Amino acid sequence: SDHTLDYPLTPNDIDWSTYYPTISKKIVNEYENNDEEEISNKKRKQEDKHVEFVDIGCGYGGLLISLSPIFPDMYMLGMEIRVKVYDYVVDRIKALRNSNPGAYMNVSCLRTNAMKYLPNYFQKGQLTKMFFLYPDPHFKKAKHKWRIINKQLLAEYAYVLKINGLIYTCTDVKDLHLWMCSCFNEFPLFEHVKNDDPELKNDVCIDHVLNSTEEGRKVTRNNGDKYLAVFRRIQDPYSS
Ligand code: SAM
Repeated sequence: SDHTLDYPLTPNDIDWSTYYPTISKKIVNEYENNDEEEISNKKRKQEDKHVEFVDIGCGYGGLLISLSPIFPDMYMLGMEIRVKVYDYVVDRIKALRNSNPGAYMNVSCLRTNAMKYLPNYFQKGQLTKMFFLYPDPHFKKAKHKWRIINKQLLAEYAYVLKINGLIYTCTDVKDLHLWMCSCFNEFPLFEHVKNDDPELKNDVCIDHVLNSTEEGRKVTRNNGDKYLAVFRRIQDPYSS
């Protein structure tokens, strides 16, 4: 249960420097007072950066750990609701930082219910990638509303995702894959990025999305199927 979960009232209330030692509190707050155009005009030094990649329901953190050295300048956050799993990821990152001085500073984990509190953590258009890997399938029809991809929540994901930002989904459950695709396809602010899209062919994340999470590895060991889908946040067709 998440009754006891603490959460910030607004993204301005988070001190990201407690999650990432290389993020400076001062500059992060400065960013939050600027408008979007000013930010992109700003020279983006390491300290200017903010979280851009989020792994929703990150489990044991395999994706974050494998992407960390590939995108050393990108801050990535795992969100996980189970206390013990969250504790494990925090300890894992701490150990990696200790044994590899200077490395793994760009990954962190936060315990939250991502279905409830996402807009409390991120500004509009802040994220460039969101990962939903092997989400709980909630097979029974009455439980479909608990699925982490659903039509209501897509509005929140669209809000925190930058235009042209990508959402990656992967599952071994074909029904869930089809359900997630249908949610996205019916939602006007996303387009399905086809498998042969050049952006995906050169995307180093794809291999890790399929193979680097603990759940993905389990599916590989059991010779299970994997269904991958990527969706791009598009401009609101009705706004100028
Ligand atoms: N993505 C990981 C992987 O591929 O190994 C974990 C997959 S596991 C089947 C799903 C994870 O999502 C679990 O660790 C679960 O605790 C987490 N989860 C489920 N609902 C969540 C929510 N509302 N907010 C945050 N995490 C959630």
